Amino acid sequence: MLGSALLEGMTVTAKNLIGSYFDKDRLTTIEYPEERKAPEENYRNFPFLVFDKDADHLRCVACKICEMECPPQCIYIEVMRDENNKVVKQPKVFDIDYSVCMSCQICVEACPFDAIKMDQEYELAHDNRFTGLLVNKKGLARSNEYYHSIKPTEAAAVDAALAEEAAKKKKTAPAAKPAVAAAPKPAAAVPAAPSLTVPADAPFSPEQREWLQKFLSQATVVAPAKPSAAPAASADTAAPAAEEPPAEAENPDLTNDAPWHDPDKDLASRMGLAKGKPLPVLLYAAMGQTDCTACGYDCKGYAMALAAGNEKDPGLCVPGADETAAKVKDLLEAAGIKV
Ligand code: SF4
Ligand code: SF4
Repeated sequence: MLGSALLEGMTVTAKNLIGSYFDKDRLTTIEYPEERKAPEENYRNFPFLVFDKDADHLRCVACKICEMECPPQCIYIEVMRDENNKVVKQPKVFDIDYSVCMSCQICVEACPFDAIKMDQEYELAHDNRFTGLLVNKKGLARSNEYYHSIKPTEAAAVDAALAEEAAKKKKTAPAAKPAVAAAPKPAAAVPAAPSLTVPADAPFSPEQREWLQKFLSQATVVAPAKPSAAPAASADTAAPAAEEPPAEAENPDLTNDAPWHDPDKDLASRMGLAKGKPLPVLLYAAMGQTDCTACGYDCKGYAMALAAGNEKDPGLCVPGADETAAKVKDLLEAAGIKV
């Protein structure tokens, strides 16, 4: 019959209209702002930063991966440094411009530390169109309890994954330390060259052992001792020679104080500073320098593992991305190490 579908639709509407006076579930609207409906767990709008104990200790390690990955570039991060200018694994500045953010959640997916998550707060209207929606570190910080309150399923899964990862790290912690030879012994009366050898139980393949041993043997070259008639005098004169700072190859600067261990310097500057240094140092300089551990090591550990042949993947540095991967590959190939 002509118009039967129209009548059918109007019957449903009429049923709902009259029924809503008797059954609240028939109402599809609420009287906002007096009434508020809790969003579904999967609802998301803008990111926030998670902390576990207090807002001064965020999970974020300022690795800048999210900053690099954010499509509209609305994240701005500055790395925190201590009084000795050493990088502290926390952001000094972490700003997100919510007016630019497109809620894509890519920052959340890119973060290897579960430090940034999507919020459900939607009442963000502001009368300042320029800075009103520019949210700083303090404004972004939310506790893990808050995260649980808005997204219980997701937060529980994240907690379980973090606990598992922490347990795994604890188990493997002693083995994870790079097998570096012991520091040179203090000058002895007999000016014999201290010999650095790879321990017999070090977990290296024969090729890795050979390379590392070669590297260490180059590092232990000491000026030959001069023959002397008086043994006492010989000891005295030999001592300063033995105390001479070891060759660069023996003591590659893999410390956090190294001039190239600076995430604010670009790759070219870092490589320039490390020019002519031994392979582990060059590899160290090529890293992202945030010690974010996304690769499974800190920057130094990853460089040492690559140099020793224990790690074959040159593309693990997330902050350094393709640029670091290409440089690492070049350095390893130039040193005759296959990757
Ligand atoms: S949600 Fe998307 S646009 Fe917003 S900060 Fe994260 S990556 Fe950037
Ligand atoms: S990716 Fe995660 S840990 Fe790295 S800066 Fe962003 S929020 Fe912080």
